[in-house]
Amino acid sequence: MRRLPVYFVLDVSESMAGTPLLQLESGMEQIVRSLRTDPHALETVYLSVIAFAGKADVIAPLIDVVSFYPPRLPMGSGTALGDALNCLMNSIERDVVKTTPDRRGDWKPVVFLMTDGHPTDNTDSAIERWKNQFAHRVQLVAITLGNQAGTSVLSKLTDDVLCYEGNDGKTFKQFIDWISASVTATSHAVESNNDGLSLAKKPSNLTLVKDFPEHKERTIDESVVVLRGRCQKSERPYLIKYNRSEDAGFSGKEFELEGAFPIEESFFAWSVSSESDSQVNTEQLVGVPPCPHCGNATAFAMCSCGKLLCINEPGVHTCPWCKNEIEFSGEGSGGFDVARGRG
Ligand SMILES: [Zn+2]
Ligand SMILES: [Zn+2]
Repeated sequence: MRRLPVYFVLDVSESMAGTPLLQLESGMEQIVRSLRTDPHALETVYLSVIAFAGKADVIAPLIDVVSFYPPRLPMGSGTALGDALNCLMNSIERDVVKTTPDRRGDWKPVVFLMTDGHPTDNTDSAIERWKNQFAHRVQLVAITLGNQAGTSVLSKLTDDVLCYEGNDGKTFKQFIDWISASVTATSHAVESNNDGLSLAKKPSNLTLVKDFPEHKERTIDESVVVLRGRCQKSERPYLIKYNRSEDAGFSGKEFELEGAFPIEESFFAWSVSSESDSQVNTEQLVGVPPCPHCGNATAFAMCSCGKLLCINEPGVHTCPWCKNEIEFSGEGSGGFDVARGRG
């Protein structure tokens, strides 16, 4: 039986916190449900999921559609695309059976790479490796989620760079349907045509990217501000996410609150180990969220150790990071600098 290996390489950086990550998780479930209804896909398609943030790893090893269980997606700080590509190439080398004179190997693997940001690591050597050893035997579709920026590096990997620009659950479902339909169509096409990849008709919010403006290398995503905190009561971590404001009315203020989101301890393992030294001043941020764990009035109190915690009222509180007691006066202290994540 010749298998059709399909890899999903998913960006789980902190800029995906909230709805985008949940959509991606349910999207994987939707793809599996759909593939299970097609006898041909059921027989030939094998799925694997690789996640990447500050680090990359296989979170679902290559397995047939019936046995595949959609993984919970982790989250971390950073967008290590170079790491992700190396992880993908190592997986392909390990998993995919090559065709030899006396053995028919697997069909050409298909990769759906989805990212919402700029790489925060160096991708040069991974791209070289891809071009030399993989580009001719793997079919990669790169999709940027809601952001055309950062596509120039993707254009070095493939001609199929697509941009998804939807903003609600309905358009996201159409986008996921398109992936399922493309995988199913490819599982049919490989039988008659070795080159295989057969993309379904694109929904209107998914477009082929033709312009790839060069961008300068950066170690931080400029479109979001993501801050980490810990709940004083439960000690569990959370993220506070702000998006760059498009509204000129926000004079001086640059980022609007999207919300605060609970995260897992595994966040720290999925993040680049070095803290970014980039800071943001609170004067640039609009909105303060309550604690997503315990409901305390603000998730935005800063300890003298430089970390954020939640508090309900002024007074003496114990920092869940450094365990020291600290007094909050409750008087507005003007702007102060906070360390921001890499996005
Ligand atoms: Zn709390
Ligand atoms: Zn502290």
